[in-house]
Amino acid sequence: MDATTDSTDSCAGPFAECVLCREPTEYPESYKGVTLCPVCEWHEAQRTACSG
Ligand SMILES: [Zn+2]
Repeated sequence: MDATTDSTDSCAGPFAECVLCREPTEYPESYKGVTLCPVCEWHEAQRTACSG
């Protein structure tokens, strides 16, 4: 038995695709805003971390 799942729905819902590489993201398709996959999100974080 897995007790780690916290969402009511199973993982069958549609996910938005990454705006950069079109990989499936962890965001729902109804997510408003830029959706990035974990990889691109990491790259973006590295880029923004260099500012200053
Ligand atoms: Zn991506």
